[in-house]
Amino acid sequence: MKTAKLAKFYRIDDGKQFRLKDFDPADTGRWHSVEQAKEHLLKDVARLEDLQSKLYAQDRWAVLLIFQAMDAAGKDGTIKHVMSGVNPQGCQVYSFKVPSEAELQHDFLWRTTQHLPERGHIGIFNRSYYEEVLVVRVHPRSLENEKLPAPLLTRNIWEERFEDIRGFERHMARSGTVIRKFFLHLSKKEQKRRFLARLEEPEKNWKFSAADIHEREYWDDYQKAYEDVIRNTASKHAPWYVIPADNKWFTHLAVSAAIVETLEELSLAYPKVDAAKRKELQAARQTLMKK
Ligand code: AMP
Ligand code: MG
Repeated sequence: MKTAKLAKFYRIDDGKQFRLKDFDPADTGRWHSVEQAKEHLLKDVARLEDLQSKLYAQDRWAVLLIFQAMDAAGKDGTIKHVMSGVNPQGCQVYSFKVPSEAELQHDFLWRTTQHLPERGHIGIFNRSYYEEVLVVRVHPRSLENEKLPAPLLTRNIWEERFEDIRGFERHMARSGTVIRKFFLHLSKKEQKRRFLARLEEPEKNWKFSAADIHEREYWDDYQKAYEDVIRNTASKHAPWYVIPADNKWFTHLAVSAAIVETLEELSLAYPKVDAAKRKELQAARQTLMKK
């Protein structure tokens, strides 16, 4: 079975009609098991390695992959899997945490710009500026911390942030940064199972955080916020992928397929050597051969 069309199924280019309930977190398409998918998982990782090497050599496009999800949806594992074949020199991962004092002295996109990937590189955001319309929306206290002048704190703030995000992403696209956004869509039931595993299995204990249990109580608010985010910020140049996350192997398969598809659309190739450069190479060869 081919993965070529797999990712397209989960891709949202235009969010107007988007409903989260139309997407099943346990969906695995026509795939049934990790055994069946294994060969493709490996193939996509190898394909990615080759494409990334060309992206780096060409040094024109930059690629930004954004990962957002509820806790325990598998962001870390997916990033690890997908990037397992990629040369670390051409790749940077950045995890966005609760903003620092210094970051809170600036606008909400300020810290983002400092971590954007350079040309030829793949940048991965583990969480991102989307937290500003997710956790900050679900917990009004976070917004208070941002020290915005009172007249700017209106009911329109989320609409305004969506508009600013759309503008920012359009600007990045026009500058040669290809943005792809992944929402790893986990069910509440599977989250419970994974939290329990973190409590019960010693080697998973370190991953457990009491704060995660607290956030789980806001599950419905988060789902609503995610739906609104996708409805308002999915676009052709910066689409969302709503990836089923109840089965990790399928998450990895679908995300790899989406990234491979994205890089393939860029028609990447190693730079061609012109006549002058060829002459230079020849001269270098002759010099080397003499000694
Ligand atoms: P983790 O990814 O588990 O290390 O946790 C990072 C935490 O930082 C999560 O609880 C996020 O919701 C939180 N966080 C990330 N960005 C922001 C933000 N802009 N405002 C408030 N909290 C944030
Ligand atoms: Mg966490």
